[in-house]
Amino acid sequence: MIAKSNHLQLPKGYTVDLPVEELPAQKVLFVPLTNGRCPKGELTIKEGDKVNFCQEIGVRHGPFFDQPIFAPCSGTFVGMEKHGYRNGKVLDYLKFENDMQDTMDPSVRVRSDEEIESLTQEQLVELLKHYSAVGLGGSSFPTYIKMQTKEKINTILIDGVECEPYVTADHRALQERCDDVIKAMMILQRIFGTKDARICIKKKHSELLDPFKKALANHPDCGVTMQLLGSYYPQGWEVAMIEKATGIKVKPGTLPAKYGILNFNVSSMIQMWNIVKYGIPVMSREINVNGDEIVSPKTLKVRIGTPFSALIEACGGYKNPDASKILIVGGAMMGSTIPSDDCITTRTVTSIVVNDKKEYKEEPCVRCGSCVLSCPAHLHPVTVMMVMKTMPVDKQKIKALHPERCMLCGLCSYSCTSKIHLTDYMRRAQVIAKLP
Ligand code: SF4
Ligand code: SF4
Repeated sequence: MIAKSNHLQLPKGYTVDLPVEELPAQKVLFVPLTNGRCPKGELTIKEGDKVNFCQEIGVRHGPFFDQPIFAPCSGTFVGMEKHGYRNGKVLDYLKFENDMQDTMDPSVRVRSDEEIESLTQEQLVELLKHYSAVGLGGSSFPTYIKMQTKEKINTILIDGVECEPYVTADHRALQERCDDVIKAMMILQRIFGTKDARICIKKKHSELLDPFKKALANHPDCGVTMQLLGSYYPQGWEVAMIEKATGIKVKPGTLPAKYGILNFNVSSMIQMWNIVKYGIPVMSREINVNGDEIVSPKTLKVRIGTPFSALIEACGGYKNPDASKILIVGGAMMGSTIPSDDCITTRTVTSIVVNDKKEYKEEPCVRCGSCVLSCPAHLHPVTVMMVMKTMPVDKQKIKALHPERCMLCGLCSYSCTSKIHLTDYMRRAQVIAKLP
């Protein structure tokens, strides 16, 4: 059973009730040549070439799959530059001067309803592969891999729980694009022969029922429902959401399809609809810019390739520009800190949180057990920490503590009486457990 993590409820931040604002595309946009899953990149264009919006311009190679690269605007490829990536590393980026015309590549075409209704599973898998669709909740897991399952699918679950504090992008997307989410779900229902299709949200966000009912009125016979789940963290964790919604416990490391379940997050469904209907990869997305240090927190619809500094400027900038601050990409609990706002928006960036930098001094462990009680994966963070502190680290002992089951939710660090960064120990233990 999934522990309820003391039913921790975290604040949603400042943007939950604000409509999405569109940030106009910038004069200069960037695309990474490589990324965390695909460490090699190859281009089919050269410096000075003109490109069309959504034109395929190269490919990233990974150990298990390739990702085509698409131009983020029409204009000119002017060369390479180094900038930060969402995981804190510095990468090589392709730099484009935007001609502000958005001249669409001729390969892009809108599909008719009849074409969509006759799409097979194989054709959908090929489309998702070609447009390099990935999980947009931050996981970047290739969507086509989930979609090519041969298992009998009994339930389709869309994760609209989004439990991280401050993050409200999917919440806003459900308010404003619920119809597209339902249309994408209907494609899956037909292809997999699945009647049971649900959008899962937190009980405390029952205001999402209204836009859902409104969108559902356009598709009265589709059978899509909305399911209200508990309002605690980390209810949005895939394993926790599936267990709460269906009672089925998914073994860590296995795909939910093995249990007859297909699950995606809200933004990934919107991405799928855009690919199938309009033939375009993810070229913009909703991103929260939030936190105590932002003058006017907002949810912005942003062109992929936009520097973070432009997003922060669109939100009025920093309250205290000279004060030291902490920048987090992807949520205050599970996100990564980045050294500066010289970082570029990619499709898996869900949020930027900027808070003032409080220095926490770690104290010795008082054996209170709070970290063990709070862990939704039933792990022993304190024991992992102690083994990690004993040099040389005993790899077998670490393996026996199963750090691979940790989803890095941050609850152990959050609940630690002595302010020990237990999640960091778990992260490092995961690396050690993978060593041969
Ligand atoms: S970060 Fe890992 S060890 Fe810590 S509470 Fe979350 S799942 Fe458990
Ligand atoms: S919560 Fe912190 S102080 Fe308490 S047992 Fe765990 S590591 Fe030790």
